[in-house]
Amino acid sequence: MVHVGIGYDVHPLVEGRKLILGGVEIPHTRGLDGHSDADVLMHAICDTVLGALGEANIGHFFPNTDPRWRGAPSKIFLEEAARVAGLREAKLINIDATVIAQAPKIFPHVQEMKFNIARALGINLQRVGIKATTNEHLGFIGREEGIAAMAVASVDLPQA
Ligand code: MG
Repeated sequence: MVHVGIGYDVHPLVEGRKLILGGVEIPHTRGLDGHSDADVLMHAICDTVLGALGEANIGHFFPNTDPRWRGAPSKIFLEEAARVAGLREAKLINIDATVIAQAPKIFPHVQEMKFNIARALGINLQRVGIKATTNEHLGFIGREEGIAAMAVASVDLPQA
């Protein structure tokens, strides 16, 4: 049976942090703040995969109070989501995601992001869609106070 999931995440932009999106370090004046590497795109994708499986969200598996995940590369969260999917005998059909950022430009990095995400999930590159949009200067994203990402996933689960 095909199940779908949804994922959403947001992190604040601050001085003195690297900007990591989809496992790519993007040159920028500020980076996303968070307990891990704050990769908002990988976090949203992690939640959509877990959501499609009917599991709890990323924070349940990797609490931000746990020092083990301080500064952790978020690909380990995706690898864990893929492992949980494997335990459930689920096959990831596709992922689609949108990064919402006023700056910097995301598009030049999309191919590398797809590569990193596909590799962490153990799926073919063609199954990963990554898009980006600005927020037309509106709201906290438009003021460059943060970056958000949303994602959907479809998975093939054995019939319950
Ligand atoms: Mg997050």
